Amino acid sequence: MINTVLAGKSNQCYMGRFEYGADIITALEDFCEKNNIQHAWINVIGALSKATISYYDQKSHEYVTKVYEGDHEIVSCSGNVSRKDGKAFGHLHIVLSNTKYKTRAGHLMPGTVALFAGEFMLQVVDKVDDNSGDLDRKFDEKTGLHLWQPMMGCPLAD
Ligand code: ZN
Repeated sequence: MINTVLAGKSNQCYMGRFEYGADIITALEDFCEKNNIQHAWINVIGALSKATISYYDQKSHEYVTKVYEGDHEIVSCSGNVSRKDGKAFGHLHIVLSNTKYKTRAGHLMPGTVALFAGEFMLQVVDKVDDNSGDLDRKFDEKTGLHLWQPMMGCPLAD
């Protein structure tokens, strides 16, 4: 039984490719705004020549970032789009492989990707009903992150 994640259903899927040089997160958010997509899950594969990735320091509540330049395959990149402050907000993680087949992975930062090629599948997700959880992001004191809200009546919620 799934108690701690939000309930949604999928009714639409887009499959396509990003423009050469596109920033994945910005392009994704723009696409969702233009197509009135409120919530979605995305998978991307492709190649890039620069990416800034990070991890979230759970004590300091800050992202620690690192820039990788040079040819990289996007072995896997997945994440979601939901609402933050009334706008589309993309949250993606990425696994890169360099010319020596070494991988690097982390939270994908916006605005820093030099995309060579990128193919995606975007699965649109709608809320099941008004009793399902809230997929809009709100500030969470404990983590310092903007998170989805737990389902109402969830035994794990305060
Ligand atoms: Zn993340």
